[in-house]
Amino acid sequence: MNVIPSNVNKETLLGHPLGLFVLFFTEMWERFSYYGLRALLVLFLVSEVSVGGWAWSREEALKLYAAYTGLVYLTPIFGGMLADKLLGHRNTVVLGAFLMTLGHASMAFETPFFFYLGLILLILGNGAFKPNISTIVGGLYKDDSEKKDSAYTIFYMGINAGAFLGILLCGYIGEKVGWSYGFGLAGIFMFFGMLQFWFGQKIFGDIGLKPVEKETANTVEEDLNAKEEVKRTFTWILIGAGFCALMGFVLLPQLFVAIDFSHNNIDIWIPASLLSAAVAFVGYVVTDPVLKVIEKDRVWVIITLSLFTIFFWIAFEQAGGSMTIFAKDYTNRVLTGGAASIFRWANTLLTIAPLAIVTYVLISLFRKTFKSYTLSNLFLGTSFIIIWGVAIWMIRNEFKQDASEVPASWFGILNSFFIIAFAPLFSKLWETKFNPSAALKFALGLTLLGLGFGVLAFGSSQIPAGATTASVSMIWLILAYLLHTLGEITVSPVGLSYVSKLAPVKFVGILFGFWFLASAIANYLAGWSGSFVDDISEKYSLSAFFLIYTFIPIAAGLALVLMNGMLKRKMHGID
Ligand code: GLU
Repeated sequence: MNVIPSNVNKETLLGHPLGLFVLFFTEMWERFSYYGLRALLVLFLVSEVSVGGWAWSREEALKLYAAYTGLVYLTPIFGGMLADKLLGHRNTVVLGAFLMTLGHASMAFETPFFFYLGLILLILGNGAFKPNISTIVGGLYKDDSEKKDSAYTIFYMGINAGAFLGILLCGYIGEKVGWSYGFGLAGIFMFFGMLQFWFGQKIFGDIGLKPVEKETANTVEEDLNAKEEVKRTFTWILIGAGFCALMGFVLLPQLFVAIDFSHNNIDIWIPASLLSAAVAFVGYVVTDPVLKVIEKDRVWVIITLSLFTIFFWIAFEQAGGSMTIFAKDYTNRVLTGGAASIFRWANTLLTIAPLAIVTYVLISLFRKTFKSYTLSNLFLGTSFIIIWGVAIWMIRNEFKQDASEVPASWFGILNSFFIIAFAPLFSKLWETKFNPSAALKFALGLTLLGLGFGVLAFGSSQIPAGATTASVSMIWLILAYLLHTLGEITVSPVGLSYVSKLAPVKFVGILFGFWFLASAIANYLAGWSGSFVDDISEKYSLSAFFLIYTFIPIAAGLALVLMNGMLKRKMHGID
């Protein structure tokens, strides 16, 4: 069980330690960078050379996209190990942020060499950053604190504030001003985020320090025996081999030869390396000789919950694929007259409201920490001034146009918007008596997600089999995104919280890595299963396609309800 230094949690904001909000903003900039780039990547690759793109085919671009998004969630397993065994979570976060800043800077050159180098740096940087910042959040609370679920829900708001602003602003600047400005913008904020974290980190006391420094401050860890060391090394090599094979075959050659990306056999290499990482991880953790039975049981609960998230993300991540196709080709997005100006105002509100909420959090943090953490706050404040400037400039530009078509990509930002709007509600709810067990929360989330697809299945029920276009109401997509988001809030931040509560201290980083590995597998399977959309809607109907994603999550949710008692027992007192 972790021991929180007494001075760390003394000062609070919204009932939580101030450190949570430092992490909130650091993660916000990292997600700004990740989602900002993600929004631009495919667009840049497929755009005509005349507008600065590389004129790739859709197939090539989506392959690189799949490789990038898959690898980004594969590397956290290494980042977690690095922090647990060597650098400590704080240093590894800084290393990750630094690599990502370099990655963005490199991509801004827009030459093939620097572009691929940038992607590799981002993949490595993300692996170092993501699991470890999630670990530090949990470190701020005692393992049995009922506040953890709500803390991770607030943290998740930071994730989505970053996603929201990144998609909106990098996408806009990349497309309208120039690709390298979009790539570079994300890098500037990642850099500021890193400095804000660096100069603010004393607020965490000794949480997330290097394992050795922490030992002298707290406990002495047991020495590993030689046999275990050999096993560990072997496992490392296995994982590393799978990973290097993927990097080697998919990305590294691109640095030197601009080969046609569709010739990269990522359909083989991605599943192979995901599988090798998963198998090696399970072997590495569960055969550990030092782990006690209770700790092993808890690790099994984390593994089980992670596996269930695969069912969640496979369906949820249709957002970037089949749901975008539904928005683009089957939804009526043309607005005329009054409706067009209502949309413009609604869109303005949609941009300003989350920014205002996050600015309110920022000002509250300033009030409490400006004197003691001046530099950290100055970097954070500067980033916000720039963000407000870019947002206002973008809104003014939009009002000058009289576009009356809602872009297909617009529906994507609803997810982040709904998270920012509803997360505080759920955060409060988890602190009341209504705080169901992990399995039941997951079951609820999976069911909400399934219902969201049910709404889409209903909305598309009039579209005949094989139709390539239609014009159904936008309301179905809006409702679906609402239900999906409510489901996400009851699964994703809650899952992070349980990883933190259940993981043995020496494995917390790597277990967060495993959690994200499940996302990598799911992202890959989402793309793979989504690619059947045309076949299924031609043979049966689009509605039938969405029904598959209605039933699978609901069935997984039911299975979790049945496993509730067993999972509770295996948690040994943690709820
Ligand atoms: N939206 C979450 C994030 O970006 C999802 C992470 C996950 O797939 O686990 O952090």
